[in-house]
Amino acid sequence: MNAPHWIAGAWVGTPSVDSIDPATGESIGQFAEGGTAEADAAIAAARHVFDRTTWAQDARLRQDVLLAWAAALDTQREPLANLLTRENGKAIAQSRGEIAGAISEVRYYAGLARHIAGHVLEPEPGTISTMLREAAGVTAIIVPWNAPAVLLVRSLAPALAAGCTAIVKPAAQTTLLTAAMLRCFEQTALPKGAVNLVNETGHATAERLVESHDVDVVSFTGSTVTGKKIAAAAADSMKKLSLELGGKSCCVVFEDSDIAAIAPRLARAATIISGQQCTAARRVLVQASRVAEMREHLTRALASLKVGPGIDASTDIGALIEGSTCDAIDQTIARACDSADRVLLRGERSGNAFLSPTLVEHSDPQTFFCQEEIFGPFVTLETFETEAEAIEKANDTVFGLSASVWTDNGARAFRIARALRNGTVWINDHNKLFAEAETGGYRQSGLGRLHGYDALADFTEIKHICMPAGVPDGVTPLR
Ligand code: NAD
Repeated sequence: MNAPHWIAGAWVGTPSVDSIDPATGESIGQFAEGGTAEADAAIAAARHVFDRTTWAQDARLRQDVLLAWAAALDTQREPLANLLTRENGKAIAQSRGEIAGAISEVRYYAGLARHIAGHVLEPEPGTISTMLREAAGVTAIIVPWNAPAVLLVRSLAPALAAGCTAIVKPAAQTTLLTAAMLRCFEQTALPKGAVNLVNETGHATAERLVESHDVDVVSFTGSTVTGKKIAAAAADSMKKLSLELGGKSCCVVFEDSDIAAIAPRLARAATIISGQQCTAARRVLVQASRVAEMREHLTRALASLKVGPGIDASTDIGALIEGSTCDAIDQTIARACDSADRVLLRGERSGNAFLSPTLVEHSDPQTFFCQEEIFGPFVTLETFETEAEAIEKANDTVFGLSASVWTDNGARAFRIARALRNGTVWINDHNKLFAEAETGGYRQSGLGRLHGYDALADFTEIKHICMPAGVPDGVTPLR
């Protein structure tokens, strides 16, 4: 499997950089290395289609393209899921779920392409104000490696539905999967250059896309640190920013919960994609009267998860993205264990990039490991006495991506969900994401919303066309 760049409808560049299977450390294919020249060529191609064709006005064509893309992806479900697991390391069941979700999401936006509606008002007699929702222009889509299929689609599908054109910059680690998905566009009527792909190991391409005055929107999913750099670099061109950033999800568990039943669910919520999901459960806050049971059941549930190659169907926790990343996460966890009140389970590092889960108990939410996003299988256990304390501790973070509330008391569940400053709050569940339901961050977890109808707002501008048509002869103005 090889991945050149895809610019103006042509596959260009010589694949020369290895993409590594993190489970084995072996190469599974090569991709071409890009830079500012490829970025400029891709921007020009996307600009041409946006400025010089009727792509942005042709909603029916865009729907046809999206439906045909979904159909082409559908024929490749299993090969794509296998490639995703080999390139990213995640358990094969998670890859199958991700590919299925991505295809479903393309179909969702194919439907919405035909309903990018504005509105019309008469703000004063005889003056007609038409608010058109127009495509925002050329969009740069910068994708992370942790869920590269669904996170590509989550930005690209609404961008195309809205009438934008795009340049995709994949994460280096999952370039082959991104290229394989974009190749499926060859079976559609997508105009050449409406979607482009530029690969790279560094950041020169991404930085050019962010700074360029010919790019109108940047849709970025990744860390808060990189999101801040992008916001600063985009300031001069004042482009629209859609930023989906990091998180530190808290699970607030009240004393009326069945601890033995929910602990295994929390363990899975914490270790999804080996703990490398933005919404993964990071902090379990349990009401103090039940902490002993939570200690016992959560430790047991985390310890029972099977670590191994993602391609093995019995694996729960696959490899982390890279050996070097795995080492860095393990070192951070070691620092956390050194200062935690209590280490309940210490994960073990093995193979090229495997790490089993760690659980620590701690009382001070200000500690670095309760505050910082540690992107691996690491969970903290904390306690609270009252609702007020639960809310205060859960909100004591710079992030605001997602959280969950666990209780049999429906009114309390809703009350706490309202009080938590997060873009998504689950009740008696965690990590449920839908094409139809907007996700996004409060505070330093990001700007804008993806998924759902409101994702179209990240890729459209509202234009007010004002027409003072006047009132008919014989009609008397009252003021
Ligand atoms: P990252 O920020 O390191 O990289 C993300 C992408 O940004 C990559 O494609 C990378 O090449 C590119 N990039 C890096 N430096 C850049 C720069 N200076 N300018 C422009 N682009 C640059 O993130 P990652 O490690 O790939 O992904 C993990 C992070 O993503 C975590 O923080 C996670 O929480 C977050 N994430 C958020 C969501 C969400 O929906 N909010 C979803 C998935 C992942």
